[in-house]
Amino acid sequence: MSNVTVCVRFRPLSSKEKRDMGDNICIQSFDSENFIIKDEKEEGFTFSFDKVFYEESKQADVYEFLVLPIVRDAVNSINGTIIAYGQTGAGKTYSMEGPNILESDERKKGILPRVVDGLFACIKTSADSTKYTIKLSMVEIYMEKVRDLFDLSKDNIQIKESKTQGILLSGATEISLLDPTEALQSLSSGIANRAIGETQMNMASSRSHCVYMFTLNQQSLSEKRVKSGKLVLVDLAGSEKVEKTGAEGRVLEEAKTINKSLSALGNVINALTCGSPAKANHIPYRDSKLTRLLQDALGGNSRTALLCCCSPSPSNASESLSTLRFGARARHIKTSPLIKVN
Ligand code: ADP
Repeated sequence: MSNVTVCVRFRPLSSKEKRDMGDNICIQSFDSENFIIKDEKEEGFTFSFDKVFYEESKQADVYEFLVLPIVRDAVNSINGTIIAYGQTGAGKTYSMEGPNILESDERKKGILPRVVDGLFACIKTSADSTKYTIKLSMVEIYMEKVRDLFDLSKDNIQIKESKTQGILLSGATEISLLDPTEALQSLSSGIANRAIGETQMNMASSRSHCVYMFTLNQQSLSEKRVKSGKLVLVDLAGSEKVEKTGAEGRVLEEAKTINKSLSALGNVINALTCGSPAKANHIPYRDSKLTRLLQDALGGNSRTALLCCCSPSPSNASESLSTLRFGARARHIKTSPLIKVN
């Protein structure tokens, strides 16, 4: 049984891509799960995923297929993780946040505001005899350091493992969320603290991995015991190759660190899918902060969804292929049955 659902989302062509290549796209023969993508030498590669969202797809479609089942499970104390992967400009942040985290147009709202609404809606319909609390921590992994986005003075948060709660952000600020409006304000203030760099990919791109950790505690009035579920959303930094971005100096160092942690993520996925029991005992989670933080998500104790974001333009075909190969590999992760964390 695989706990990782892998979907692909192709965003609409950008105006630059249209200027450079017209309306051409590199995808062919597509349906809701399969497609062929052509590389720059016109060679075709076939891919199959749990679901493929094309450029006309709606934010609500992505949320309902990929995220809502995980939100429902989190309310029942089953941990969940949602990861957005892809090159800079491929639509990770648009999918996660929407055009803006405080976007008022319902249709454009991204995964995060929908998660907030979804969590509060699930709680509202739950039995009166159960008391819920929702807390949020937000960190970014920048140059292999974990920074608290709610308190920038905490710039070296340690990732620890607890027997009962799994992977934890030790000492990170946790904000209690009382209603959806307040939750969005908190998310907005954390997002404003992210490190933003400019690359020649023609847009402001985030040079850090951003991690949103919701913790749901549930206490039945008849019992003392508190059950908890974690919902972790990760907006990864861009996966493009350094050469194409024209990066220099600090931006080059950032890109190298990003590539290193994404390679570490790839190595963990390879180790989890290699099928050899000897290697399976040796999963290199400790090779980067990112893989350490995602240890629960990838190693079994979480329902995990991966959204591979791609450009449909022939000019980005090699980056899209690399993203799709990463997603195809992750689809083969086989983990043990999920357990509820109490
Ligand atoms: P990334 O986070 O992967 O670097 P962004 O999410 O910032 O990329 O997307 C790059 C640009 O493409 C943004 O201007 C964004 O609004 C636009 N975009 C991305 N995905 C979509 C989509 N599905 N529909 C419309 N515009 C999109």
